Amino acid sequence: MNSNIVFIALGTNLGDREENIRKAIQKIGKLPKTAIIKSSSIINTKPVGITNQPDFLNCVVQIKTILDPEKLLLELLKIEREMGRIRKQKWGPRIIDMDILFFNNEIINTQDLTVPHPEILNRKFVLTSMKEIAPEFVHPIEKKTMERLYKE
Ligand code: AMP
Repeated sequence: MNSNIVFIALGTNLGDREENIRKAIQKIGKLPKTAIIKSSSIINTKPVGITNQPDFLNCVVQIKTILDPEKLLLELLKIEREMGRIRKQKWGPRIIDMDILFFNNEIINTQDLTVPHPEILNRKFVLTSMKEIAPEFVHPIEKKTMERLYKE
């Protein structure tokens, strides 16, 4: 099996937030030829952009999968839909949001996908969580480890 190592950020600020995270991770683990390798601690974060909305719970999971990036994205969007996410505002409240942070050490720029995710360096929780589960992982564009990016 030619498997890929992928990091996915999860976020939720509606309903039973712990349950939303738990359910989303469970669904990711059930995707074809996909396994959860590690999950970070769950962190409470203040909303970015639109600030008059509930706090988020965020975490990052490391997975192993044979799905390619486009297929993985489609599966994640499907999980978001299954969990009842309705897309309204760009930075608005959501039951679940999943972003592909890294896909191996590939750099992808298509209409549907930007990887590494462009917000990684702006989101402290992402660097906190990445540092926790993969401190030595190197950002393929910045060429720096998560540990180093977190400290900067
Ligand atoms: P949002 O609802 O704001 O998270 O945006 C979701 C859309 O962002 C998806 O439909 C993707 O086409 C696009 N997108 C671009 N890069 C990524 C990425 N690295 N991970 C997840 N979605 C992405």
